[in-house]
Amino acid sequence: MKRVLITGGAGFLGSHLCDKFIEEGYEVICMDNFITGSPDNIVHLFDNKRFKFVNYDVTNYIYVEGHLDYILHFASPASPIDYLKFPIQTMKVGSLGTHKTLGLAKAKGARFLLASTSETYGDPLVHPQVETYWGNVNPVGIRGVYDEAKRFAEALTMAYHRFHNLETRIVRIFNTYGPRMRFEDGRAIPAFVSQALQNKDVTVFGDGMQTRSICYVDDLTEGIYRLLLSDEVEPVNIGNPNELTILDLAKEIIELTNSKSKIIFEELPSDDPKVRQPDITKAKKLLNWEPKIDRKEGLLKTIEDFKRRMKV
Ligand code: UDP
Repeated sequence: MKRVLITGGAGFLGSHLCDKFIEEGYEVICMDNFITGSPDNIVHLFDNKRFKFVNYDVTNYIYVEGHLDYILHFASPASPIDYLKFPIQTMKVGSLGTHKTLGLAKAKGARFLLASTSETYGDPLVHPQVETYWGNVNPVGIRGVYDEAKRFAEALTMAYHRFHNLETRIVRIFNTYGPRMRFEDGRAIPAFVSQALQNKDVTVFGDGMQTRSICYVDDLTEGIYRLLLSDEVEPVNIGNPNELTILDLAKEIIELTNSKSKIIFEELPSDDPKVRQPDITKAKKLLNWEPKIDRKEGLLKTIEDFKRRMKV
């Protein structure tokens, strides 16, 4: 049986990946130290004989018994608020954690997939962002801890590939949303949905004219699965090119939740990217993948999940 290790497996994306690999018939080892992940995201898998959970901080030496076919390194705080709260852990898991998981992949002869990010492009001067763009990142800004850790992680992954001939894959993940996001993780979609469901003010930062392009989580996990099984070593963008302003996103969520919330404007955090949209030509061509779930459908599924968990 194929065995896969997913670090950060109790997080938002990690737990959806655990589900995907269980569905595909793999044995899944999920590692997480619950800094930002939660047992709630994986509790439904605990009875499954092909699922094993290990509570561990992957910035330390990792021991796994038996063979491993794949390692997916998804451990990291991933929202701007989380990496402000845990700046050192964010840098450690992107650097030391990537080193340890790459070392494990080499020892086991496993294929390694790095969860990288559209943040490697920073506040981009090329739009939409294509994989060959090197980015515009402020290393000493508040987002620097995440952006630079992920850029370092990409460089280290390529070094293991080139020097040790390790089989590696790099996915650059763009804004993703869906069930299981934490209400308080500070990102736009969970913030707006939980505010709207409670008829509280919806907090738009800046004038709301900055754009993002949002991908439903099931589309993302399918793209990552295909990339893992492909032959592509260079980074691949996975995301939904459907771009909108944050103000329009706030309005849409208020409408879809039938909320009485009003929009209020708050200060824009520094280095907040002005635009973001993935160029997914490469993923389309190489992986025969493109997102299938449209925004309304995805947002409604997310709202349903939030309603259930918030008991509203
Ligand atoms: N944002 C906002 N209100 C919030 C949270 C976020 O207006 O309560 C904005 C944020 O400033 C950014 C965009 O929404 O411009 C997306 O932010 P998010 O934290 O979701 O992720 P990012 O794409 O910035 O990493």
